[in-house]
Amino acid sequence: MENTNKKVLIINTGGTIGMKRTEKGFSPAPGFLAEAIESISDMSREGFPEWELCELEPLLDSSNMSVREWNNIGSIIYENYEKYSGFVVLHGTDTMAYTASALSFILGGLDKPVILTGSQIPLSEIRSDGRDNLITSVIIASEGVVSEVCLYFSGKLLRGNRAMKMSSDGLVAFDSPNYPHLADVGIEIRYNRAAFMPSEKKSGSGIALYPFLEIPIGVLKVFPGIQFGLFAEIMTEKLSGIVLETFGAGNIPNNGGELLPIIKSAFDSGSVVTVCSQCPAGTVTLGAYETSSALKSAGAVSGRDMTTEAAVAKLYHLFSLGMPKEEIKLKMEECLAGELTEN
Ligand code: ASP
Repeated sequence: MENTNKKVLIINTGGTIGMKRTEKGFSPAPGFLAEAIESISDMSREGFPEWELCELEPLLDSSNMSVREWNNIGSIIYENYEKYSGFVVLHGTDTMAYTASALSFILGGLDKPVILTGSQIPLSEIRSDGRDNLITSVIIASEGVVSEVCLYFSGKLLRGNRAMKMSSDGLVAFDSPNYPHLADVGIEIRYNRAAFMPSEKKSGSGIALYPFLEIPIGVLKVFPGIQFGLFAEIMTEKLSGIVLETFGAGNIPNNGGELLPIIKSAFDSGSVVTVCSQCPAGTVTLGAYETSSALKSAGAVSGRDMTTEAAVAKLYHLFSLGMPKEEIKLKMEECLAGELTEN
């Protein structure tokens, strides 16, 4: 059905874009973003999409985001779904890719845009990159051409669960090395429709909310010289999901086979170990090298070309649905929300 209501809901969760300069550094301040937006005349100009603003309480630096806030943002979108043509989530850049990944699983059956954005310099500062990020995100959210969870930053519209923060201080801070941009923004917004999520990947029964539970998840990054034995005590059923960030295509140091029994016993007692790569681009292929084939036989699953952010969110999602571990293992290698490339 065509959307006649073109109003966009802007949800401010915190982050640099709306922060205020204080003696202790930039910090979130209630109402401050609304004031900064008032000084952007384009946002109230004729022809600009209608929008409304709501703010989370408390506003957070995104380092403090947790499952609670992900669920809260998801619920706000779910409860207001019919009233708006699209949603813009203003968010700190530090964990924006995690929240974008989480929302891609929390919100099922989306047929409207949900665009996460923020900035490296607050909106109230002279050289702020927040102005274009906000204005363009609102336009993309009102146009409704794309209908998935996306991240817009510095001229690039990315699939949310493929995005990664690439720079801590550059204005071109995000990219999706393993997936084409959904749009590139120059003089025009050039959508790349071929990269959009195919409609058969979306559930046909309309918007659905799949909140996360506080599942214990762990991420372990391997490095040369790692003493796996030290991690045996935490790699148990105490962690339901474990993301193992390996070298290259899924390789780990052999260490006399130290890790494999740990993975095997973690799996036997109910944990799902997912292998991702430390490389931003490319895919995990378990079995390509001797150093990775043993991981597979020990019960680990391949995260293929998923980001760690997406793998973490997907583990939360699948465990929250209460699936048995065998099914979770299978689903981790399937594309559920555009987060990985299947064989
Ligand atoms: N620390 C900030 C945050 O993630 C950084 C930012 O927004 O750019 O909330």
